[in-house]
Amino acid sequence: MKSKGVCKLCEKTYTGQGMTRHLTACLEKEKANDKGKSRIFLLKAGDGPFWIYFEVNAKSELAEVDVFLRDLWLECCGHMSAFRIGNTDYMSHDDFLDLGEKGMDVPLEEVIKPGTKFRHEYDFGSTTELELECISERQGKKLKDIVILARNDIPELLCDECGKPATQICTECVWEGEGFLCESCAEDHECGEEMMLPVVNSPRMGVCGYTG
Ligand SMILES: [Zn+2]
Ligand SMILES: [Zn+2]
Ligand SMILES: [Zn+2]
Ligand SMILES: [Zn+2]
Repeated sequence: MKSKGVCKLCEKTYTGQGMTRHLTACLEKEKANDKGKSRIFLLKAGDGPFWIYFEVNAKSELAEVDVFLRDLWLECCGHMSAFRIGNTDYMSHDDFLDLGEKGMDVPLEEVIKPGTKFRHEYDFGSTTELELECISERQGKKLKDIVILARNDIPELLCDECGKPATQICTECVWEGEGFLCESCAEDHECGEEMMLPVVNSPRMGVCGYTG
């Protein structure tokens, strides 16, 4: 399952891998006249068909990136999440902080730099794991918010029964690597309607109660 996406700066289309190379160069060109002095990181999250590239202030805290990923891709019922950077976990909830856990109130620039690969986990039961990477850094005007530079288009998924575009996923059959269904096949599907979740543009598709 591969997917493409559009660079929001120049509107050209790339695959996930091509985008990494493209964006650093494109950013440099587009932002050549930005005279700001703040450090800004370019980050990538996700791999496979679901990926996103975004810019964030180096002084922003991990918590801000956590909220961003939840809003975009993850949030179903307020599960716990964590970043793992090197051998350290940074937790979203402060339940265990007195046991030596670290929280997410840590500025990015203290824990990552260009080249750092790290991980985000949402929900420690039905976990959605995301690979993250700090691709590059530039100087510029401080960002008001996290800025999305590119995101995958929704991959085309076909009904396992009849080959028409799928709109539903069966949360039972998904464990066997199938369960994509079109509207009419979903109605007749043996596992029942209550097992269906919508096909959405997220790595958490078909997990827990995630509906996008
Ligand atoms: Zn571009
Ligand atoms: Zn949930
Ligand atoms: Zn069908
Ligand atoms: Zn099923």
